[in-house]
Amino acid sequence: MKLFVANWKMHMTRPEARAYAEALSEILGDGAPRRELVLAPPYTALEAARDLKGRWSLAGQNVAAEARGAFTGEVSAAMLSDAGCRYVIVGHSERRRIFGEGEETLAKKLARVREAGLVPIYCVGETGEERAAGQTSKILARQTATLAADSSDSPLVVAYEPVWAIGTGVAATPRDAGEARARLAELLSARRSPRVLYGGSVTPENAEELLEVSRVDGFLIGRASLNARSFAAIAGLSSLDGYPAGV
Ligand code: PEP
Repeated sequence: MKLFVANWKMHMTRPEARAYAEALSEILGDGAPRRELVLAPPYTALEAARDLKGRWSLAGQNVAAEARGAFTGEVSAAMLSDAGCRYVIVGHSERRRIFGEGEETLAKKLARVREAGLVPIYCVGETGEERAAGQTSKILARQTATLAADSSDSPLVVAYEPVWAIGTGVAATPRDAGEARARLAELLSARRSPRVLYGGSVTPENAEELLEVSRVDGFLIGRASLNARSFAAIAGLSSLDGYPAGV
C-alpha cells in the first residue's frame, strides 16, 4: 500500500491538531483507507492528532540518540512508542543542516528506534551544490551506509528528499525522483522490503504524475500536508474542487 507521511514540522497547537484530525476523519469516512497515512506532529500534539479508529498512525519527527538519562529537552524512542507512535523520522535534512546531526548520531538514533520497536523513516538526499557537481549517487551511498548496522529484515522506510527541493516550491522531476528511487533500491538490495518515498515540494497538483512516473512507494510531505484536504488530495483520497490552488 502506498504510504503518505505528513511532516508538520514546528506547526500546530493542540486545538489546531484536533481540528485537522476532525477534518481528515470527515474526509476519510469510516471505511479502511486505500492508502497508508501517517501524521508526524510536534511532540506536544501527538495525542491530539491520534486517530482512535486507526485510519492513520503517528510518527515522531525526531528522537534522542540515547535511551534515557540526563539529556534535557530530548525525547526517547520508548517515550515516542508510549505516546502512540509507530514511525520516527530520522535524519531529516533540517536536523542534519540546522542541528548538525551527522551519520554517527543518526546511526545511534536508528539503533534506539529499533530497540523501541518503531519503524524509521530515514531521510537522505543531496544539496543543490552536490547535485550540480554530479554527486547525488555518491551522497546517497554515503547516507545509506549509516544503515549498515540496522537489521536488514526489519521494516524500513527511506525518504529521498533532495535538500534543494524541500520547502522551495521546486520539486524534483518525476524522472529524477525515479532515478533516485532506482539508485536507492540498488543500495538497499540486501534488505527485505524497504519502501522508498519521495519528499520535496509535493503538492496536490504534482503528486499523481510524480507517483506514477517515479514509481516511489509514497511521499513525505511538509508544507502541503498542513491542510487535511490537501494532504488527502495528495494521497488520492479527496479532490480539491472548490479549493484555491496551493492549499
Ligand atoms: C519535508 O520537509 O520533509 C518536506 C518534504 O517539505 P516540503 O513538502 O514543504 O518541501
